[in-house]
Amino acid sequence: MASRTIENYLKQLWLQQQESRGKYVPMGKLAALVGVTAGTATTMVKAIADSGLAKYAPRAGVRLTRAGEQLALHVLRRHRLLELFLVEILGIDWSDAHGEAEELEHVISETVLARIDLLLGHPSVDPHGDPIPSSSGTVEAPELCSLAELQAGSKTAIVRIMDQSAEFLRFAQTSGLVPKAAVVIEHNNPQAGAISARPDGKPPVILSMAAAAKFLVRPCPTAGKQRRKRS
Ligand SMILES: [Zn+2]
Repeated sequence: MASRTIENYLKQLWLQQQESRGKYVPMGKLAALVGVTAGTATTMVKAIADSGLAKYAPRAGVRLTRAGEQLALHVLRRHRLLELFLVEILGIDWSDAHGEAEELEHVISETVLARIDLLLGHPSVDPHGDPIPSSSGTVEAPELCSLAELQAGSKTAIVRIMDQSAEFLRFAQTSGLVPKAAVVIEHNNPQAGAISARPDGKPPVILSMAAAAKFLVRPCPTAGKQRRKRS
């Protein structure tokens, strides 16, 4: 097993590469994500590059190699399976499960992970709707759009929540905006920068466009919209 620090770098790099569509991740960006100075990040990245897990280009930044991607996906698999286990089996609140999984993902054995996967019935998504990478290192990237893109009158269902801070997850839960919830868009006013969404059986919730963009949904508007591939 790679060290906890290396695993965290690989995981953050993989997540950031999804956002930047595979481009090199600038060192400043990576440093901010990991929570260290750019100098510390550069030293670490050079060591990671030396072990063949990433490519480092001094001016452009860093990008994972295939071997680095495989390791990153395995860390994500551990994290997301653990989160589901903590919520579904241990009954831990989903706003606390992320922090717990951040710790456990580095220490769990393959034997225990395989038992958790079996116990949960080989699940494909975690409690926030994030896809769980397979044991062979592949991950689904379904086409999704966000609540912010939907017109008034649209009916859709929440698939995934992109902000996993405890505060945001608590807000999502009390509002009824959770994965699998059916939602009707009552208003979408770009001038006001707000939408009103009504989850099934709950009162309508007013969301800023920024908050609405954190809820990924399906189905999407049919024509002309650019879809985001998420993985
Ligand atoms: Zn998490």
